[in-house]
Amino acid sequence: MPGIHNQPMKNYVSLLLLSLLMAMGCNTVAPKAPKIIIIQPLGAFPKSLSRTVWNQIKIVNPNTLLQENIPLPEQAYYPVRNRYRADSIISIFHRKAGKDTVWITLTEKDISTTKDGIADWGIMGLAYRPGRACVVSTFRLDKQKIPEQFYKVAIHELGHSQGLDHCPQQTCYMRDAEGGNPTDEETGFCPSCKTILKKKGWRLL
Ligand SMILES: [Zn+2]
Ligand SMILES: [Zn+2]
Repeated sequence: MPGIHNQPMKNYVSLLLLSLLMAMGCNTVAPKAPKIIIIQPLGAFPKSLSRTVWNQIKIVNPNTLLQENIPLPEQAYYPVRNRYRADSIISIFHRKAGKDTVWITLTEKDISTTKDGIADWGIMGLAYRPGRACVVSTFRLDKQKIPEQFYKVAIHELGHSQGLDHCPQQTCYMRDAEGGNPTDEETGFCPSCKTILKKKGWRLL
């Protein structure tokens, strides 16, 4: 009777499965509660775009608030190039952010920072890694694709705020822009970036 011979094997398989499940259970780290993301539009940033990006970010982190527009910080203005220093903007908002919050500031103005020996290098966004503040600008985006590209830059900067570094995957949101705008080639977070963000409580499939 084949059934009799199969019985011990069945038991063995169930035991193996059980120990595997137990081992998995012991190793699973419960995701942390996600940080509160505060979206702060600056200057005349369009309200419709703030709402669009708010709705998109809320999908990955429901604890996301949208603030009313406030003026751009004057002390961040760099008259020589008629643009704003991104490093100054994030330093101002980092100081006002609580331990469990991340501020993402939105602007239409050109922003810059010091990078690779260049004193004033124009960028799309900047964040502390990890940290409590980031800034994203529409200025360098393709004018025909602003809502789509803006979300990709915003989620990239928020990824840095959660501790993520640049990613070698060409289709990952954490790809290094290297002075250009590769957002059209980005399709989502790669599996390894996703794993890190899920541990931070982000809702990613
Ligand atoms: Zn980056
Ligand atoms: Zn990645």
